[in-house]
Amino acid sequence: MDKDPTNKFERIGNNIVKKMMGLKLIDKPRAERLTSRYTVAPRIYGLRKTHKNTCKLRPVVSCINSPSYKFNEDIQFTLEIEQNNRISFLDILIERREGCLITDWFIKPISSGRLLNFESNHPRAQKIGMITGLLDRMIKLSNEAHWEKNYKIISNLLLKNGYNKSFINAIVGKFRQEVSNRLNNNIRVANSFTYCRFPFIRGLSYEINRCFIGTNVRLAFYNLLKINSVYTKLKDPLKKEERSGLVYKITCECNRCYIGQTKQFLVSRVKQHVNDCKNVNAAKDNKTALASHHFDQHHNFNFENTSILDNERNWFKRNISEMFFIKVNNTVNKRTDTNNLSILYNDILKKYKSEI
Ligand SMILES: [Zn+2]
Repeated sequence: MDKDPTNKFERIGNNIVKKMMGLKLIDKPRAERLTSRYTVAPRIYGLRKTHKNTCKLRPVVSCINSPSYKFNEDIQFTLEIEQNNRISFLDILIERREGCLITDWFIKPISSGRLLNFESNHPRAQKIGMITGLLDRMIKLSNEAHWEKNYKIISNLLLKNGYNKSFINAIVGKFRQEVSNRLNNNIRVANSFTYCRFPFIRGLSYEINRCFIGTNVRLAFYNLLKINSVYTKLKDPLKKEERSGLVYKITCECNRCYIGQTKQFLVSRVKQHVNDCKNVNAAKDNKTALASHHFDQHHNFNFENTSILDNERNWFKRNISEMFFIKVNNTVNKRTDTNNLSILYNDILKKYKSEI
């Protein structure tokens, strides 16, 4: 292949979206949602299949941020044919019996049966939530005739994942009571709390949560150590020039640096900076801090060695990240660039700066 066709496919896709909007098949907000920018070519990688003897590697094509990525959610096809009057789809099994459709909660035979382990470093409430969620899903997906059998399956699954009998019986018993109350009275108590996401650190997190007693705010904990931080990275990393949604650093000959953020490809953004530093633009009004430094101090920036400090597609988070890096580096950035960063961070950033 002589030329990377990614841009061409991006254009073709966007033209189809435009045409569909012209024909009034989709409205403007949807067309905007389907229009792609800064796309990259899909990447292939291999996933180890541990439960199969043959074909040890399943090839996976990751289409994230590829030209057709945004269409994915709109196109979904699947075809299955029933066997013995039964057909399964995801975690539901549908059975044709005497003219009626009976459903049951279904676990694939290859399921590992692994759940959040009782010994895992997670809040107790999260373990209870996991069990209740499992029970709730089972009840919603299966016909009442299957409930007893499924309660037993779930209890056995939990035993295998380190939960003790009395813990299981207490949670399952409470859940069964709630289900029968629900069936009898048809009421469900709505909870009126507002939840905020907060990292789970055993001991500390509960103490912080206690500060909110008497308010309608509660913390919802998440674990800092995620599964993908344990396994090696499977996908090839994107090349520097193919990456977008970045916080970057350009160093000056005086060793100070400029920190910026962009949603574009890095090369495009750097090109704009190079252009800003051309003499024809010296008299321009709203110059960037980088261009001002270049013209005021007669210094040159080392554009070839632009480094990436952070990758973040979310605009809000990217701005916070940029301000952090401006604070801890010796920069040429304007003072106003960090106006939106809360002073609460000052002490911790000062400490961090002294350590690097
Ligand atoms: Zn300089």
